[in-house]
Amino acid sequence: MKLDQHFRDKVRSFYKTNGRLFFWRERKMSPYQMLIVEMFLQKTRAENAEPVIKDFLKKYKLFKLITHAKEREIFRIISKIGLGKRRTKALINASKEITEKYGGEGFPPNEKKLSEFNNVGQYISNAVFCFALDKRLPILDVNTSRVVSRFFNIKNDKDLRHNKRLLKKAEELVPRKNFKEYNWGLLDLGALVCKTKPKCESCPLKGKCSFYNSLGR
Ligand code: SF4
Repeated sequence: MKLDQHFRDKVRSFYKTNGRLFFWRERKMSPYQMLIVEMFLQKTRAENAEPVIKDFLKKYKLFKLITHAKEREIFRIISKIGLGKRRTKALINASKEITEKYGGEGFPPNEKKLSEFNNVGQYISNAVFCFALDKRLPILDVNTSRVVSRFFNIKNDKDLRHNKRLLKKAEELVPRKNFKEYNWGLLDLGALVCKTKPKCESCPLKGKCSFYNSLGR
């Protein structure tokens, strides 16, 4: 569909010119490293989290090091970006479960298996398999779902798992080539431009966006 292609092209060119550069986008990450990145990024600002994630990955290079660490030591690091004891426990428990099931250096074989672990879920597992393992998958979180739902005028339920139309559209939109750049572009558009209070005037999608056009500007 022409509108889908227009959307993909605009998102990818936004990434080329305005994409944020984080170390996890500039170098090849292992699935373990990417999982840690995504777990840290939940409800934190990526810019603030970056140096803390870097230090954490230097110290904890494998799941098994996390499972042997003292809870207060993990908490000391992640509390620097406002993550609390609940998140510390989530990180330790996910590491323990994955280590028990797949051994010290193993990893779940696909995104479905990874998403079944506590505190992981579909968004994180798709991000890990897309960005670390080059699998063509949609990345649907609050930010990206807001962009897609506004542009295509699709109702955006709070619980994304039940939003079948939006999920289907997000899947159809992922391009065959450069899908990582597309997903990063969509994440950045949602975080920087199509925010809760959207900055439509500076958005590259405004020409064909349903939401923008409904404003009658
Ligand atoms: S034009 Fe506005 S509502 Fe549409 S995608 Fe851009 S920022 Fe979001």
